[in-house]
Amino acid sequence: MVDIAALARLAGVRKYGADEIFFHFGDPGHEMFIILKGTVGVFINSLDGSPLQVAVLKDGDFFGEMSLLEGMPRSATITALEDTVCLVIDESNFEQVIAQQPSLAFRIMKGMSNRLRQQNEELSFLKRGPKPEENDAGGNAAGSSAPLPLNSAIYPPGHKSYPATAPEAHNAYLFDSETLCPVCENKFPVKMVRSSKLRLDKIDSDLRQRFYDFEPLWYAAWICPHCYYANFNFEFKQVSDALKKKIMEQGQELKAKLAVNFSSPRKIDEVFTSYYMILQTLQVGKVDPGKAAKIWLRLSWLYSDVEDDEMCTFTSRQALEAYSESYFNTRRDTSVEQDQRLTLLLGELSLRLGQKEEALKHFRNSIVRKGGNNNLNRQAEDRIQELRTALSEQENA
Ligand SMILES: [Zn+2]
Repeated sequence: MVDIAALARLAGVRKYGADEIFFHFGDPGHEMFIILKGTVGVFINSLDGSPLQVAVLKDGDFFGEMSLLEGMPRSATITALEDTVCLVIDESNFEQVIAQQPSLAFRIMKGMSNRLRQQNEELSFLKRGPKPEENDAGGNAAGSSAPLPLNSAIYPPGHKSYPATAPEAHNAYLFDSETLCPVCENKFPVKMVRSSKLRLDKIDSDLRQRFYDFEPLWYAAWICPHCYYANFNFEFKQVSDALKKKIMEQGQELKAKLAVNFSSPRKIDEVFTSYYMILQTLQVGKVDPGKAAKIWLRLSWLYSDVEDDEMCTFTSRQALEAYSESYFNTRRDTSVEQDQRLTLLLGELSLRLGQKEEALKHFRNSIVRKGGNNNLNRQAEDRIQELRTALSEQENA
């Protein structure tokens, strides 16, 4: 048990009112918090960048330790859901606190390995538990994270140049801003999306969100023109200090080989480049399959937009492999709904690649009667019905 009274003598106590924000996603910070009384919400950015509550923390829970211990930018936004009182631990009192409360150190370590890292992920890419034995066709051995060759270019074989440019209508949803590169610390201009203006048209079966007159995919990847660091805009500030030097070195190499810049209006070729650049940055560190999967899935959407079926299939396969790897090999806590979305996505990608039996299995797994999302259940049921019909027709023929 953590002795709160003893801790309170060592660390500062701070009060937050309802709706008050402790910190934002991406902020720098060097403090961790233990909740003495109250409730806070943990928010991450959803697919479209809007905040999504992923956890609620209560008395005795703590947060912010990644920033305190690793100097990482904040991996989530934390907001008080009611009046909340917290202990604040920083570098100056951390050692004393741990010396007096070793059990807290143990809890922090445990928490770091299975709780907090999930918060810097987007929706629905992770699944707790090891890969089930019965799943023999997971295609895991090859993995998805084989590095792309860093030779003449950063593109896989088969990638072409495409004529599309951003339609004029996009402008109404954009504004110019500037951001500070967390790697080289230079400023550079960026296009920001007015998310409040976006109107959702529909969500495709593979969970792609379609908006009226606008395609956020065109603007979701940022590249620093100075050091060539690339990342999704919603996690641009999330880069560990340990990787910065390597990213700069890689950037020097890449600079000699290709130019990265966005024209106005933006060209689809530049958009493709921006996603392949995120893959390059990703490979500087230990490749996170969940993140690789996000990039491949988006690339598959873009290739489908330019009607390159071959590349759409190639990138869908990469996405499926990376999501499977992430799903079966990552031990993290996710919500029921996040699991459902991921399983459904595995099913859709399998289906797209003609793997009907696999797809059926994933769709079955994605149905959760108790506590599941009914729309997702219904989508899976429809798919199962379609697949059963298709499979029985196949047998009869
Ligand atoms: Zn930079």
